[in-house]
Amino acid sequence: MAGEAAELLRHYVADRWQTPEDEGTPLHHAATGEEIARVSVAGIDRAAALDHGRRVGSPSLRALTFHQRAALLKALGSYLREHRDALYELSIPTGATRGDAMVDVDGGIGVLLGYASKAKRELPNDTVYVDGPVEQLGKGGTFLGQHIATPLHGVAVQINAFNFPVWGPLEKLAPAFLAGMPTLIKPASPTAYLTARLVELIAESGLLPDGAVQLICGPTGDLLEHLTPQDMVSFTGSAATAQKVRSHPAVVRNAVRCNVEADSLNLSVLGPDAEPGTSEFDLYVKQLVTEMTVKAGQKCTAIRRALVPAWHIDAVAEAAAERLSRITVGHPADTDVRMGPLVSLEQRDEVRRSLKALLDAGSVVAGDPESVEVIGADADRGAFVSPVLLRADDPDRAEPHQVEAFGPVATLIPYTATERAIELAARGEGSLAGSVVTADTGFARDMVLGVAPWHGRLLVLDDTDAGESTGHGSPLPALVHGGPGRAGGGEELGGMRAVLHHMQRTAVQSSPEVLRAVTGRWVPGAARSVTEVHPFRKSLAELRVGDTVIGGPREVTAGDIAHFAEFTGDTFYAHTDEAAASANPLFGGIVAHGYLVVSLAAGLFVDPDPGPVLANYGLENLRFLTPVKPGDALTVTMTCKQIIPRTDADYGEVRWDVDVTNQDEASVAKYDVLTLVAKEIGS
Ligand code: NDP
Repeated sequence: MAGEAAELLRHYVADRWQTPEDEGTPLHHAATGEEIARVSVAGIDRAAALDHGRRVGSPSLRALTFHQRAALLKALGSYLREHRDALYELSIPTGATRGDAMVDVDGGIGVLLGYASKAKRELPNDTVYVDGPVEQLGKGGTFLGQHIATPLHGVAVQINAFNFPVWGPLEKLAPAFLAGMPTLIKPASPTAYLTARLVELIAESGLLPDGAVQLICGPTGDLLEHLTPQDMVSFTGSAATAQKVRSHPAVVRNAVRCNVEADSLNLSVLGPDAEPGTSEFDLYVKQLVTEMTVKAGQKCTAIRRALVPAWHIDAVAEAAAERLSRITVGHPADTDVRMGPLVSLEQRDEVRRSLKALLDAGSVVAGDPESVEVIGADADRGAFVSPVLLRADDPDRAEPHQVEAFGPVATLIPYTATERAIELAARGEGSLAGSVVTADTGFARDMVLGVAPWHGRLLVLDDTDAGESTGHGSPLPALVHGGPGRAGGGEELGGMRAVLHHMQRTAVQSSPEVLRAVTGRWVPGAARSVTEVHPFRKSLAELRVGDTVIGGPREVTAGDIAHFAEFTGDTFYAHTDEAAASANPLFGGIVAHGYLVVSLAAGLFVDPDPGPVLANYGLENLRFLTPVKPGDALTVTMTCKQIIPRTDADYGEVRWDVDVTNQDEASVAKYDVLTLVAKEIGS
């Protein structure tokens, strides 16, 4: 874009690129100040975009199973990975060095791929999510309860911050898409051109169903006014804007789900044990400087408050200052540069204002709040600042706990005892991420339990996990990203938790047969069908939920038990020593091994010849309910409970309900057997 007339950003609405009707307002290169793009929403119909998402995107996504959606996410992640150079290139004007761009771009792609693979393991190949166990609501078992989750029929609206123009949209898109909700992306204006390029790539991939993703750049305008009870909003940005979004009349009136990530005075605590010279001391200082300077400190998870034992504060200050002196600031395309500019001159002014407030309560340890030396750029035209480490010798001053300078700024704060550190941590009034650097597990426990209520994520770093640690500032798809209070009170990511945020949980009360029809799973009390053909001889295409095999009875003899004990080496007294077993208050005599019961049951239900069943890959929820004594006769009832075809293999998973009963029809063991079964005979 540089050197040419700046491009007017287009919007992707109703599966078409639309150009606004006026010239728009300019967006500037973070390092050079030159105009990089223009943004306007003149003539763009936000209500129509929401309507299109509901009418077109939502039904087409809901028609897909979780596994089909996961396969599309995976394909999209791979496509974006192939085209990521375009995104790196356009990250430079946002102020991002190559390292920063990788955090944003590769991090975002990683979320897509991470969610795709998790979904295949943790979600069914179905359109309904069954949440928790069946609840028996009446004594006779004819009236059951089951929680299910189904996708909301609206649009997941994202309002994003400027600092992660790629990761931000993708980390919100992945769980919404998996849940079956279309997304409308509203990027922050300063870096909207990079998000627009991302959406161009998504559209060019042709992978996603119509209406699944839309983009409207520029001011939010009247977007929120058109929200309905089935839409939701995920917001990242300042606490002040979050408050406006949350209290918007349409959001309040329609109880629109609103997830917020806002300001956060994240802390990092150095343990008292981590003296200068220890690995933990070095890890602490290194991490502090990394967090201050990656993305020029414009990370919602960056360390703002560095709590250190009062007697080590001079040593930490000295070591951090030494490291910071090696941070080169300048044009993000220059490979000698370690830290680029802030996103805009407005943000530079904002950081300077916040620094002034922080300086009222502290002194400068490293860096220059007024000026900065830069490489390859003009310090005044670009939004450059020096990394600044402050020191607040009075930990009770409010400023370091309240003022977030959204840049390369952190404050050292002394503490004298564990309780004091916990109390100071709470003064941040809620944070996204915290870290404790210590080799003392007792201190780690006290700190984690003491500050957990104020945090969404806590990293405990020591010499043993540092090599694999993903670091203080990195949200991960599998772990919750969000925090209470000042941090917005929201929750993103966290594996399948975030998918469920986009779905309605409903308690269904019904007969077993209705529950089976609704969930596609056999439940106790629903009809079983014992067919002539053994279910193990049926392919996935032929097998039906409810297909049952009954085997037995088979008497368990004293000889069986003695043989099993000797054969396996499990000579536990309850199976081998009549006198000792008689004294056992639960058994009152020799009993069969639980594993013998399970093994005998397998012998009763199995069909031995080669066929569509490829493997047994486990048991779940195994419980031994009644002791089995010599002379008892076992019967096994095995019922096909759930059929899960895999989208990328010619076999699928079958979950079987197994109930082993004795001659009195009492259950002696219950469990689920998991098998892999071919989709077609001979496949
Ligand atoms: P804002 O809160 O101003 O903007 C965040 C998003 O909200 C942008 O997409 C913005 O659009 C949009 N927006 C602005 N006004 C409204 C409104 N009235 N209704 C609905 N949406 C609106 O944050 P900034 O990006 O300007 O950053 C300001 C400060 O926020 C930073 O200095 C930092 O302290 C904090 N911040 C916190 C982050 C976090 O993750 N915790 C991330 C980024 C910033 P537009 O850009 O078009 O105005």
